[in-house]
Amino acid sequence: GADVALSHVKEAGRNNFHFYTGEMNAHALRWMSLEVHLRHAVERNELRLYFQPQVSLADGRVTGVEALLRWQSAELGMIPPGDFIPLAEDSGLILDIGTWVIEEACRQMKAWHAKGLPAMTVAVNVSARQFATGTVPAVVSKALRDNGVAPRWLEVELTESVMMHDSEHTQMQLNELSAMGVSISLDDFGTGYSSLGYLSRFRLDKLKIDQTFVKNITTDPRSAAIARATTALAHGLNLVVVAEGVETEGQLAFLRDMGCDKIQGYLFSRPLPVDELSVLLLEQRMLATVALPPPAART
Ligand code: C2E
Ligand code: MG
Ligand code: MG
Ligand code: MG
Repeated sequence: GADVALSHVKEAGRNNFHFYTGEMNAHALRWMSLEVHLRHAVERNELRLYFQPQVSLADGRVTGVEALLRWQSAELGMIPPGDFIPLAEDSGLILDIGTWVIEEACRQMKAWHAKGLPAMTVAVNVSARQFATGTVPAVVSKALRDNGVAPRWLEVELTESVMMHDSEHTQMQLNELSAMGVSISLDDFGTGYSSLGYLSRFRLDKLKIDQTFVKNITTDPRSAAIARATTALAHGLNLVVVAEGVETEGQLAFLRDMGCDKIQGYLFSRPLPVDELSVLLLEQRMLATVALPPPAART
């Protein structure tokens, strides 16, 4: 009797074991092999920065770009950041990758300045894990110095989660970056868990209204109210307001009426590889105007 019971337990246990390892293996293996590939991505030169323009609503000009990571893997094809940034953060690879992003952005600025392209800011996304090391100001200042780029052209984008996580440590680094002349931009505003207290405590220059609010701005009065209130709040704090994820003329008109300063989104341009962005910027310099017609020509 006892033997039979035991064998049943074993059997059940083994089945369970198989069941779980089966699922876990598939998941872990995918994750692990992705991590192995990602580990080599930097050395193999598989990471790229794409650049998405930010357009000033005052004059329709591109005043800056956001650098967005792309991973063109030889084995796995094009992998979007949403699929590998979380893995990079879990594994700690984000530290090397994040440093590469900052350096590459500065190298790119140096190249643009040498070509005489119109001066504009380049924003880089910096994750909580990078701030946790305490080395962000040092990495930034070295990259700027190595490329002879003035700090005012660089912008650091961080999310509310960065401010929550070890906030004093982060605050010190942001103060240091600010003192250097680097701008600080608060990304995805309204989607995290931060309190308004962070807005007064942290030294910020820009606030980005998250695309979830922009997406519904013309159809959902609540999203519109949040975007409007966020803009008033940000302006009260002397922050520049950027709306991200602007896809339609309707959204643009709404944001313009609301007093939003800048837009970023597919309506104007998708994130572009560097060659295509250079073409767009050269056109801007020659035409002194871009795809957005001036306010008077609208409506
Ligand atoms: P994010 O920083 O909020 O970047 C904006 C995202 O919105 C980008 O997605 C951009 O391509 C997308 N987007 C821009 N305009 C539109 C639009 O009109 N419609 C829609 N539907 N989407 C639009 P992407 O490039 O896939 O990046 C996703 C996220 O990955 C970023 O969100 C950022 O959190 C993260 N990420 C990207 N590059 C880096 C990086 O270098 N370092 C770190 N730590 N995170 C990064
Ligand atoms: Mg961003
Ligand atoms: Mg964002
Ligand atoms: Mg986002």
